[in-house]
Amino acid sequence: MSVALTMFGFALPAAAQIGVVGTRIATCIAPMRPELSARALMTDRDGFDCVSPQSALGSGDFDVIATHLPPGLGASGPVALRFASVWLDRASLDVLYADGGIARVAMDQRSITAHLRLGAMIEYNLPARTAPITGLLWRVHGAGNVRGIVLGPSIATPIESARSDLTLGALYAGFGGLCLALLIYNLALWRALRHRFQLAYCAMVTALAIYAVSSSGALAWAFPFIANNDRIRINYLMLALAVVAALSFARSYFEERVYAGWVGRVDRAVCATMLTATSVFIAFAPLAPGPLDRFYNAAFALVLLAVVPVMVRAWWQRSNYLWLFALGWAAPIAFAATRLANNLHLVDYGFWIDNSTLIAMTVEALLSSLAVAYRIHLVTLERDEAREQEIAARLLAATDPLTGLFNRRAFLERIMGRHDDQLLLLADIDHFKRVNETIGHDGGDEVLRVFARALRSSVPADALIARLGGEEFAILAPATSTLSTSSVLDALRAERMPFDLSVTASIGACTGPLANDIDWKRLYRRADLALFEAKAAGRDRARHATVATAA
Ligand code: GH3
Ligand code: MG
Ligand code: MG
Repeated sequence: MSVALTMFGFALPAAAQIGVVGTRIATCIAPMRPELSARALMTDRDGFDCVSPQSALGSGDFDVIATHLPPGLGASGPVALRFASVWLDRASLDVLYADGGIARVAMDQRSITAHLRLGAMIEYNLPARTAPITGLLWRVHGAGNVRGIVLGPSIATPIESARSDLTLGALYAGFGGLCLALLIYNLALWRALRHRFQLAYCAMVTALAIYAVSSSGALAWAFPFIANNDRIRINYLMLALAVVAALSFARSYFEERVYAGWVGRVDRAVCATMLTATSVFIAFAPLAPGPLDRFYNAAFALVLLAVVPVMVRAWWQRSNYLWLFALGWAAPIAFAATRLANNLHLVDYGFWIDNSTLIAMTVEALLSSLAVAYRIHLVTLERDEAREQEIAARLLAATDPLTGLFNRRAFLERIMGRHDDQLLLLADIDHFKRVNETIGHDGGDEVLRVFARALRSSVPADALIARLGGEEFAILAPATSTLSTSSVLDALRAERMPFDLSVTASIGACTGPLANDIDWKRLYRRADLALFEAKAAGRDRARHATVATAA
């Protein structure tokens, strides 16, 4: 995907150049000859190179002319000259008219800032005369000439210029909104999930947002007093900070083992190189803008290369996050590579290359929000499963596995704290030992299950049933309930048992409050005595103990 996007990036500049509106004009270039007049340079055109790319000439002072202009230029209304903002010390623009007149516009760091339009295009309204314009001459001092000296020059009408600002304004506003949304979204997620990489991500988005404001030229509108070269320095700085934040993001995104040993050392070295190159550029750019820009680009290339060992290591170590990372970051990496290729003169300058961060971040944001959603989906699944397991475990701990009734512990937990009178029945199967002897232990188990089922169906809904142990069961309900010993005994007699065995039970009953453990012991003892009486009286019957009242 990364490769495909890079190829796509290579194909773009020919297709779309939104920032370059109006009629493109061709330029010729020569090292500056201060001894020659503007008129002489524009009429003789001697020694000008109209074929080689400007950047081939390196940094320095240059004369750039445009003499093949649209016919009648400027005669039928105001026109503006637009060209991309690049690193330069100062410049002047000479405008030659058909009547032989020349108008001069001086450009210094601050006046250039005042003439910046969105898309970092410098725009000068050409002074109007009755005679049309026939030639233009830029005399540029201290040109960095990294990508060119007079880049993408065009002639635009006020409408074209305004439309460009409007289109780009919408584009950058969209990007600004995206950055804001990403920041809020990731900060909110960070509050919830506390992943360190989310903070690195926020730092990166902030750096990119400032980069967008600065590199688009919008910064010049907000701070008109800023020198244009300082604005370019901010571009370099913010892009570098974004890159370092992105590296730090990757570092905290993957498992620690991915960055163990030399991969981690390479990563740190690359970060340090990037920051060094940036500081050196910011401090010393006027001395050698070309070489320092190349140093910066080399550091940028190292950053891209450093991604390779990380990905390979992540793959080798079967990192859980490799695919999400690769998916989310393919676009930014591809566009960074395209941009680098542009800076190294492998690809032509183009508006989309200049603004590739915009597209890359949009794609990245989209994919990583899907990735985050996927992560949350996984967490939700885990949580649901854990919750179900917990419920199952709790149920298992509370029930008797053979009959599914409450066990003694769960029963006692549930019955305490009842201050009103309660009716307790203790049911014990008669001669159960014989049942086991007759049909075997497994048959006995089945009898216990059927017995439990019969109990369940014969008691009212407000009764609690438990297997206290062996073949002894307890049933508890409020004294006001419809629970009765006779209905339980009848149901048991009517139940069809395995092998048509006739199975009966004896019941001991007692009524009393059940506020605490003492109540329970008293109630249980009396019910047990009643049960004993029932057994003694011939079994298959119930006996009620005298009412157990609180002492
Ligand atoms: P009584 O009428 O006096 O209650 O006589 P009984 O035989 O029912 O009473 P006793 O307490 O002497 O015997 C209970 C028997 O229940 C003994 C034991 O082997 C059997 N038993 C206890 N738990 C289980 C069980 O989970 N499954 C089976 N199959 N038998 C059990
Ligand atoms: Mg028994
Ligand atoms: Mg018993």
